[in-house]
Amino acid sequence: MSTKYKMYLYDLLYLISSILIKIVNPCKIQKNSNRETVCISTRGPCCNRCKHLSTKGCTVKALSCKLYLCLVGKYSHPVLYKILKKITHISIRSEIYYFRYSKQETFYELNKLGKEKYYGQVISKP
Ligand code: SF4
Ligand code: SF4
Repeated sequence: MSTKYKMYLYDLLYLISSILIKIVNPCKIQKNSNRETVCISTRGPCCNRCKHLSTKGCTVKALSCKLYLCLVGKYSHPVLYKILKKITHISIRSEIYYFRYSKQETFYELNKLGKEKYYGQVISKP
């Protein structure tokens, strides 16, 4: 599978999962009365301490994060969890699933591993 096709697939899977997450809103991320960001899990949100997190939220396009649901999310939204799992398997098989990696980091990593050809795409160091 070419890099071009993988990038297209990455964007497509990201779009589908983003729409699903937006419609279902499984995590219910919001600010509490102390202006802290919270979700339905007492252990979350799972973005905490990620290098891509800013005060305004995530700063990158990260497919693996769109596909992740913790156990609380899994049991409160089993159908969504199953769909996201299926998409996860597709992305793993297509070698575009890197946990907490941005799209740029994902394709930089693939190129570094020598698995990809550029096909005219410029993938700069993240
Ligand atoms: S996956 Fe779980 S921990 Fe992460 S934001 Fe959603 S509810 Fe919170
Ligand atoms: S990359 Fe993932 S874990 Fe990091 S801030 Fe973005 S959504 Fe959260």
